[in-house]
Amino acid sequence: MELDVSGLQVTYAGVIRALRDIDLRVGTGEIVAVLGSNGAGKTTLLRAITGSLKRHRARVDKGQVTFGGRSLVDAHPADVVNRGVVLVPEGRRVFGRLSVEENLKAGAISVRSRATRAERREKVYGMFPRLAERSGQRAALLSGGEQQMLAIGRALMSGPRLLLLDEPSLGLAPQIVTHIGEVLRQINREGTSVMLVEQNAAMALGVADNGYVLELGRVELSGPAAELAASDDIASLYLGRG
Ligand code: ATP
Repeated sequence: MELDVSGLQVTYAGVIRALRDIDLRVGTGEIVAVLGSNGAGKTTLLRAITGSLKRHRARVDKGQVTFGGRSLVDAHPADVVNRGVVLVPEGRRVFGRLSVEENLKAGAISVRSRATRAERREKVYGMFPRLAERSGQRAALLSGGEQQMLAIGRALMSGPRLLLLDEPSLGLAPQIVTHIGEVLRQINREGTSVMLVEQNAAMALGVADNGYVLELGRVELSGPAAELAASDDIASLYLGRG
């Protein structure tokens, strides 16, 4: 199933235009990177996809967001999840007082079959052995990298078709960022499309098929990730080269 954003314009409080004429696509089975500096509109784009504009007093003025051909504009956040579009939020936001296992359970709240829940949990533990070792521990006691893995694991418990990640590498050591990149590739190989919103262009373009660069609410550049990684504009803006 494909995510299609076309001609999207979003305004906060009726006056602050945060996105203008955004065209973006995440094809079935693809990994797409969305890059941009602070205030470029990345979070707003994620809100438009996940049904959370209203909660932030924002609305779609023009354009469309569809997943598998059906509109996500004005969808309730829970419906978006039920349709297979799941967000790993910025700052991880695991339930600190709950154990690792309970956090995973919380991600599977809409999954009726106990067998499916158990199967997914084993898959997550297979992907992140550290979480298996610490399954009984409170999430607040995990390291930042482990919490990020738990946040990803929790999202996987609902069986997403499209996984959205908001800055998963933020504040993590390079080695852990590399591991997260590898995990995203594995998740993708197993059939989940991925949209990765990042300020860490090197990691994001390293794992993505295609990429988009947002600036001041517009798509400034887009194309195959390898081409973007090689472009001078990206190098000077995001990779510390240039
Ligand atoms: P960051 O990385 O800092 O989160 P971003 O690329 O995610 O940046 P957005 O948060 O989407 O960018 O912001 C895009 C624009 O929308 C900015 O001009 C911002 O000030 C504005 N904006 C974001 N949230 C709100 C809000 N709740 N109310 C009013 N304006 C907002």
